[in-house]
Amino acid sequence: MKEARDSWILGPDSSGRALRIEDGRIADFGTDLEIGPFHLSCEGARIEVGRVNAHTHIYSGLVPFGMPAPEPPPENFVQILERIWWRLDRAFDEQSLRAATRYYVAEALLAGTTTLIDHHESPGLIEGSLDVLADGCGELGVRSLLCYGATERNGGPDEGARGLRESARFLRENRNPLLRGAVALHASFTVSDDTIREAAAICRSTGSSLHVHLAEDVADVEDARKRGFGGPLERLIELGAPLEGSILAHGVHLDRKQVERARDEGAWLVQNPRSNRGNGVGYPTSLAFSSRVALGTDGFPADMAAEEAALLNEADTNDDDRATIAERVKGGWRMASDLFGIRLTEEPRAGDAADLRVVDDKGRVQHVIVNGIVLVRHGQLISGDIDRIRTEAEEEAGRLWRRMEKI
Ligand SMILES: [Zn+2]
Repeated sequence: MKEARDSWILGPDSSGRALRIEDGRIADFGTDLEIGPFHLSCEGARIEVGRVNAHTHIYSGLVPFGMPAPEPPPENFVQILERIWWRLDRAFDEQSLRAATRYYVAEALLAGTTTLIDHHESPGLIEGSLDVLADGCGELGVRSLLCYGATERNGGPDEGARGLRESARFLRENRNPLLRGAVALHASFTVSDDTIREAAAICRSTGSSLHVHLAEDVADVEDARKRGFGGPLERLIELGAPLEGSILAHGVHLDRKQVERARDEGAWLVQNPRSNRGNGVGYPTSLAFSSRVALGTDGFPADMAAEEAALLNEADTNDDDRATIAERVKGGWRMASDLFGIRLTEEPRAGDAADLRVVDDKGRVQHVIVNGIVLVRHGQLISGDIDRIRTEAEEEAGRLWRRMEKI
């Protein structure tokens, strides 16, 4: 059970500061708050704002349970997609997706990540798939944006239309205030002009953002050029996709002018250092020209400390400016503030959403709060039974790998 109270005190922490939390927000903060009976102590630890994972795939939640290596090993980005991810996503049924969601979200909360910006694909289970994700997110209490990445790579234009309909349905039907919908495409290189036009139309009619993989690998750029466009960004723009508030994952192969254009049109770019390194797609040097860049894990577990360490490492290797990239962590708070109509700031203050994590001096996450509700206390998940979630994930992973082998 999640713990919900109308008004309670978090702290004081090691700096002596405490927060009064009311109705999901920080109502007051300071070193002289009256500590009533309802308080959660933060001795020897620091109160921080919760982390935002600005681009991920919750469905990859079962990967840590021994996903079999592809045979033969992939040699480039498209082969990585074809031999791993595009087989994994087709193997999902409702039960395995439910288990993957619960495990991914539980681990995210235990790592102090309070917001997940998700991009989902399960071609064997399109209709209703976002409800399965919404159930898991809602049950465990994480804040999240959910959307279905429309693609034509398995079933042509019909598959693209079904994917877009699923996002539109969720946008229409979602009633959970901690969840948001969006319109999504897998990537420019797996959809036709008509599907992009339709996605753009739904964005406009619902006032929603677009979430898409953009220029992750040079293959996406080459494909857009073959179709007669300057690149995948130009293709989206020319086919009418609104960029304001949209989420463009990767942008590894965008040049300075394209990044500046995305910035000027109000799009967010998301860097995913571990994924980019793992897939060997390159380093997104031009992202330095946008102030609207956030950090994502692209399917890796939502441990943002690990992603930040990889970011620093990759930045040093590629001579990127440390001061610029430090802003990318803060980018997630700004992005989530825009998308959810809340305020998250680096130093929690009155009026901010009470999305918080409390971390001890060894970097261990003690407590996690989303929308004023305690979800992790003293390092233990309290919004769900982690042992049951892990056992269920292990069982479903075994079934999933067996189905994947046949694809
Ligand atoms: Zn991705």
